[in-house]
Amino acid sequence: MIAFGPIPSRRLGLSLGINNIVARKVCSFSCIYCQIGKTVNRSIIREAFYQPEKLVENVKNHFNKLDADHAPDYLTFVSNGEPTLDINLGKEISLLKETFHIPVAVITNSSLMSNQQVREELLNADWVSLKVDSVEQETWEKINRHHPGINLEKVLEGIEIFAEQYKGRLHTETMLVEDVNDHHSSIDATSAFISKLNVETAYLSIPTRPPAEKTIKAISTENITKTWQMYQAKGIHTEMLTGFEGTNTGFTGNAFDDILNITSVHPLRDDTLKELLKKEKAGMEVVESLIYQRYIKKDHFEGHDYYIRNFHL
Ligand code: SF4
Repeated sequence: MIAFGPIPSRRLGLSLGINNIVARKVCSFSCIYCQIGKTVNRSIIREAFYQPEKLVENVKNHFNKLDADHAPDYLTFVSNGEPTLDINLGKEISLLKETFHIPVAVITNSSLMSNQQVREELLNADWVSLKVDSVEQETWEKINRHHPGINLEKVLEGIEIFAEQYKGRLHTETMLVEDVNDHHSSIDATSAFISKLNVETAYLSIPTRPPAEKTIKAISTENITKTWQMYQAKGIHTEMLTGFEGTNTGFTGNAFDDILNITSVHPLRDDTLKELLKKEKAGMEVVESLIYQRYIKKDHFEGHDYYIRNFHL
């Protein structure tokens, strides 16, 4: 299924998720902190996953099942992988805007920003978040584990061109991982690069859900504050994405589908899942059945159970 939620987002209010890459994870990176697991085959080839009209139809069907309390603030491309690998992304953004008159957001890992066509398609989105974890070659390789066909210099050049042309709301996101990209030189160079982009907000985040590599750690509160200060000192409006989003997830009345759709891109925390089941008038047996059939799996991270889509069947 393509549309899910809406789910509460720290940046976008109520965000109706659009997963344009559904069947298997397709990404150009295999980030050490990825919340949907390791990338089995990294890809940089843009391909068609859905007919754009079919994608919009699916969003419409989902939208019609939502109650008034869950009217979304944004339609957000947040995929099971990298949304710009979808060759129909530009057309889908246009069709969604024409159909719903709700702002469209895209959260991208930036790896295809060297591609002029991708940049042109994103110009039509209302809200864009670009991942910039590090601009230092060695650190970038360590944290994002890129497809060998991606060149960091060209990506950064593409980001700068896009930032010059883009008229919508531009943001960056930097995930901070202890002993990987939290050293002074990486933070200094990354913040210096972001300061040239004139972004509305640069977000600093830490892993808050079970990561692909279990050994990684979020940086300490003290170091987050230091990083925030370094960004601020360069004149960047900076916010920290370190809190929990809340449990107010949208629902359609089909607990089985809703859990599968959300967990494809976004692990569900135990309290959010409980709240969702209550609204769906369903019990834990739905979850147990999904686990038994190996559609989802349970993981534990920092005091909470998380439920994650299991793609390795
Ligand atoms: S975090 Fe995003 S960019 Fe990184 S591997 Fe996961 S899906 Fe891909």
